[in-house]
Amino acid sequence: MNEVDQALDIAIASFVAKRPKTHALHERAKAVMPGGNTRTVLFSAPFPIRVERSQGAMLYDVDGHSYLDFVGEYSAGLYGHSHPRIVAAVTEAVAGGLNMGAHHVREVAFAEAVCKRFDLERLRFTNSGTEANMMALAAARCFTKRSKIMPMMGGYHGGTLYFGGGVASPVNAPFECVLGRYNDVETTRALIQQNASELAAIIVEPMLGSGGCIPASLEFLSMLKEESSKAGIVLIFDEVMTSRLHPNGYSAKIGIQPDLKTLGKYIGGGMSFGAFGGRAVIMDLFDPTRPNALPHAGTFNNNTMTMTAGLAGLTEIYTPEVCFAHCALGDKLKTDLNEMFMRYQAPMQVTGMGTLLNIHAVSGDILRAEDAAKGDLRIKRLLFHHLLDEGIYIADRGFMALSLLIGERESALLLVAIEKFINKYRDLLRV
Ligand code: PMP
Repeated sequence: MNEVDQALDIAIASFVAKRPKTHALHERAKAVMPGGNTRTVLFSAPFPIRVERSQGAMLYDVDGHSYLDFVGEYSAGLYGHSHPRIVAAVTEAVAGGLNMGAHHVREVAFAEAVCKRFDLERLRFTNSGTEANMMALAAARCFTKRSKIMPMMGGYHGGTLYFGGGVASPVNAPFECVLGRYNDVETTRALIQQNASELAAIIVEPMLGSGGCIPASLEFLSMLKEESSKAGIVLIFDEVMTSRLHPNGYSAKIGIQPDLKTLGKYIGGGMSFGAFGGRAVIMDLFDPTRPNALPHAGTFNNNTMTMTAGLAGLTEIYTPEVCFAHCALGDKLKTDLNEMFMRYQAPMQVTGMGTLLNIHAVSGDILRAEDAAKGDLRIKRLLFHHLLDEGIYIADRGFMALSLLIGERESALLLVAIEKFINKYRDLLRV
């Protein structure tokens, strides 16, 4: 066993010793949920922290520990915990009637706001980003009357649309896929051209989220736009995460308009949310007054809590000014962390932009998910445990989504805590 394993063993033993109630709850959970878990990303060995309550930027666990929350509910928690305006909106929605089983007033204003903000001619709501992507792909297949789709290796579009490690997950929806290579213009262009007559859709995250916050180059996205237009393939930008990086979404930031966009996460104000939308000529296939209209179901698609909280969040809290300022804060945190890693010559780096960042234990360029995966996972796990001890919660894969309650003070605390990590483990990091 080498010294990194030893350090990790010590960190994990200390984690367990400090969390008897968490441990006991995990044992109970295991009896009724496989591995005590109902959402894979939240699990970390030997068992994950178990939160009792949250407020503002803080999480409080069942053993009395508190953490500054840098996970931000994997980007759905932009407004922090129990933002007063969101609480008021949800309260108002509940008081006015929860599940109407009918078209209602609130969904109209919310749909108008989302369409205007993200430049969509039409949209439909879903309950999750996964559903939004499933429906967008299905729409593209019906529109083009073709069957294959092109996701990217390392892409993530939901639990049934996951291509990490360059292969389709065994629980994926059984779409026939041609996998593109992220940020590789020529290889992917050739694949599109070879399969042009059979491809219904190309689906891409303009910045890989789950794959490690790796932005696509402008050249790569421009090529996808050019080739998809030429071949009549529906180009889908999965903006479930990236829409928050510009007031009008990432497509507006880079000036490339796909045929369809999918949205999710924070846009529902923290409630269950997803949406897909874009060109009317595709979306109107779902118009129920049309003969042979495509069906699209979902009991909670227009639930009043999401519609009300989402509208308040988008129009009253995450205004364009707030979006620009918050993204600038995230960019500064990224620069500061990278400068610190360079100063210590620690083999680590932060990728991403704005308020979506990922720490990697990798030096050298990160252009694709496989580059990020090359890092020493044990170093990231050590960092995760070190930060928990410092009262800071990041995802164990190094991911951070900064909520609006993360400001300069909180960023400074993270910097100090990571500097301590480098000093504590300098021998292991060889700095
Ligand atoms: N697309 C992307 C880019 C995502 O990051 C996620 C969630 N992490 C999804 C789709 C799926 O969204 P949901 O979890 O709401 O189904």
